[in-house]
Amino acid sequence: MKQSDALIDRAIDLMRTARRVVALTGAGISTPSGIPDYRSPKSGLWAKAADMMEVATLQGFRHRPQAFYDWLRPLLDVILQAQPNAAHRALAQLEQAGHLQALITQNIDLLHGRAGSRALYEVHGHLREVVCPTCHFVAPAETYIDEFLSDGRLPRCRRCRHFMKPSVVLFGELLPWQTMRAAQQHAHSADLFLVAGSSLEVAPAGDLPALALAHGARLIIVNLGPTAMDEEADVVIHGDVVDVLPRLVEPFLPRPLLIEPPPAPPAGLFPGKNAPPNDVRVSGAG
Ligand code: ZN
Repeated sequence: MKQSDALIDRAIDLMRTARRVVALTGAGISTPSGIPDYRSPKSGLWAKAADMMEVATLQGFRHRPQAFYDWLRPLLDVILQAQPNAAHRALAQLEQAGHLQALITQNIDLLHGRAGSRALYEVHGHLREVVCPTCHFVAPAETYIDEFLSDGRLPRCRRCRHFMKPSVVLFGELLPWQTMRAAQQHAHSADLFLVAGSSLEVAPAGDLPALALAHGARLIIVNLGPTAMDEEADVVIHGDVVDVLPRLVEPFLPRPLLIEPPPAPPAGLFPGKNAPPNDVRVSGAG
């Protein structure tokens, strides 16, 4: 038995006795789908770290919307191509099986929703909509993003003609407070908190496991690298989410129905009609 097998078994035991499981995911759950961690300078999306603070802030967006969208374009390209992976699907299945109360994500890429998760709290916003930072007009993002990617036209507000930005949280911006509040309430009432693919470095979403622990929850962490909460966790699995999550979730999924083979036709009623000729022998027989 591998060490990770024993850890997965321990995590499954904790999940069996839990009544309110809440999960938090970060960039690490979408990297197997080919999406880089856009907040990380290591992602290759940043020429130099200083750019990040100039471009992807609300101030940067207001002053240089073109530079912001130029920065966003390669990220949009990969996100639009990406497909949900086995880890996204595992969490959606866990919810459908009634074993996951809420899924909180730091990701903006919509992959959890596309995998079928419904009790979803996107605390860093999402790419479904664009919003006008001046008059707060909100519109579905699809047409605007298609126009931008095809002919470079920046999204403009229909009401006030200012440039619109995707409904994602930029650096230095406040998180959507209603979503964050709901996420905190779920963390508060969880008796098992599952972290998947987050190093828990980005506050305040990264603080949710501590909130859950403070209210008596158990903590399971699945992440490739170490996290800030490894010491506090009941089970830490340093592994790939696409390997680990399906195994963690599998015991909670409904058993597939066994399909019984159709009954064999009664033998001997019409001998010779459908039977193979006598000289044909089943291989191995005789
Ligand atoms: Zn506007």
